[in-house]
Amino acid sequence: MSAAGAFARAAAAAPGWAARPLEERVAIIRRFGDLVERDRDRLAAILTDDMGKPITQSRNELAGVGPRVDYFVDAVPRVLRPTTVHDDGELVEQVGYEPLGVVANISAWNYPWFVGTNVQLPALLTGNAVLYKPSELVPRTGEAITELLHAAGVPEDVFVLVPGGPGAGAALVEQPVDGVFFTGSYATGRRIAEAVAGRMIRLQLELGGKDPIYVTDDVDLEPAAASLADGAFYNNGQSCCSVERIYVHEAVYEAFVEAFVAVVEGFVVGDPHDERTYLGPLARPEQLEVLEAQVADAVAKGAVVRTGGHRLADRPGAWFAPTVITGATNEMLVMREESFGPVIGIGVVASDDEAVALMNDTDYGLTAGVYTRDEQRARRLLARLDVGSAYWNCCDRVSPRLPWSGRHHSGIGATLGAAGILACVQPKAWHLRR
Ligand code: NAD
Repeated sequence: MSAAGAFARAAAAAPGWAARPLEERVAIIRRFGDLVERDRDRLAAILTDDMGKPITQSRNELAGVGPRVDYFVDAVPRVLRPTTVHDDGELVEQVGYEPLGVVANISAWNYPWFVGTNVQLPALLTGNAVLYKPSELVPRTGEAITELLHAAGVPEDVFVLVPGGPGAGAALVEQPVDGVFFTGSYATGRRIAEAVAGRMIRLQLELGGKDPIYVTDDVDLEPAAASLADGAFYNNGQSCCSVERIYVHEAVYEAFVEAFVAVVEGFVVGDPHDERTYLGPLARPEQLEVLEAQVADAVAKGAVVRTGGHRLADRPGAWFAPTVITGATNEMLVMREESFGPVIGIGVVASDDEAVALMNDTDYGLTAGVYTRDEQRARRLLARLDVGSAYWNCCDRVSPRLPWSGRHHSGIGATLGAAGILACVQPKAWHLRR
C-alpha cells in the first residue's frame, strides 16, 4: 500500500478511535501485553532471525514490553485527567488534552520492540492513529508487532504497517501527518527535521549517542568492570545508550583495564540462537568498515588495542571481535563518533574536572554515568553533564517511568515517563465564564 493510501485509511479511522472511551483502549493495550507475553519465545526467535541479537537478549527485550504496558495503562489516565486550575464561581479554567490525530512512527532496528512500543503504546492509548514504518532490517518483527496489536483489538486502519526502507520512510514523512516520531541516526533525523520544517507538526527525534562513563579512584574495580563491559558490549554494542567511551581515574586505570579486558575476553561469541552466546554477528555489514576505521585511526594516534581489533572472517556474516582500545583520547574517532558495535575506547584522566570536560566534549547528549562509592560526589558530577539521562553505578539502562530524551545531536522531545505521554497529545485550555 502506498504511503498516501495508508494515510487516507488512518485519517478516516482516527476520529472514531479517539472517541472510544479510554478504558476500551486501555483494555486493548493490556491484551496486547498478554499476547506478547504468551508468544515471547516465538517472537524472540523472529527477532534473532531478523537482526542477529543473541536469543537470551531477544527474550529480555520481549520481557521488557510488559513493564511498558503496565506503566502506560496506569499512567495515561492519570497524566491526561482534565484538571480545573481556577474556579471563583464565575470563571472556570480547565486543562484538557486531545490526541494529535495521525502520527508517523519511523523506527530503528536495534531494539525494535522497545523503540516501537515506547511510541506506539502512548500514541494509541491517547487516541492517535499510527502509521508504523519498522526498519527494513527487522521486517518480520515489524509484522509481528502489527499482527499482535490488531489481534488485541486495535482496528487495522488505526495501526497501519508501512513496510520498506528509506524511500518508504521519506514518503511517509511527506504525508500530511500530525506528528512524526522517529528513532534512528542523527543523519536521518536531520533529514526528517528538514523535510517537515515549516509544517508546524509535532516532531520527536530519538537519535544516537556517544555515551561516556567516568570511573573514579574509589570504585570496587571488578563489579565496575563487569557492569561496564556489559554496558559496552550488550546487543553487540548496538544500543543508543551503549557505553561508548570510558574515562578512568589514573589511580585505578591499569587495574581497571586489566579487570575489564578479562571480562571481555570471557564473552562467548557465536551462533545467536545458542543460549550461551553473548555476542552474535553485526546487523549491518557496512558497520565493519566503520569499526575498522576507528581502530586504525586510534592506533595511528597512539592508542593500544588490548584485545580484538579485527573482523572474524572465519564465519559467514558480519563479525567483529570484541575490542578494547586503551590510551584513547578525544582526538580519536573511537571517542567522537558512534561506534555502534563491539568496540570501546578507554582513556585516562587525572581529576574529576578533567573527566567532566572530556565527557561534555561531544556533539551528542544522550546518557552519561559515574562509578564511585560516594553518592554526593556522583550527584555533583552528574549535575554538570549535558545529557538527558544520568547514571550512578549503572549504565545502558532505560526505565518506562522516566523520560527518555537526548540533547543536541541525540535528539529532541522525549519518550517514556509522563513527558512521553504528553508528547502524543495537545493541550486545550478551557476558559469558561458562568
Ligand atoms: P537509520 O537512521 O539508518 O534508520 C532509522 C529508520 O529511518 C529506518 O526505519 C529507516 O528505513 C528510516 N529512514 C532512512 N532514511 C529515511 C528518510 N530519508 N526519511 C525517512 N525515514 C528514513 O537508523 P538505524 O540504523 O535504524 O538505527 C541506529 C541508530 O538509531 C543509531 O544511531 C542509534 O543510536 C539510534 N537509536 C536511538 C535510540 C534512542 O532512543 N535515542 C534508540 C535506538 C536507536
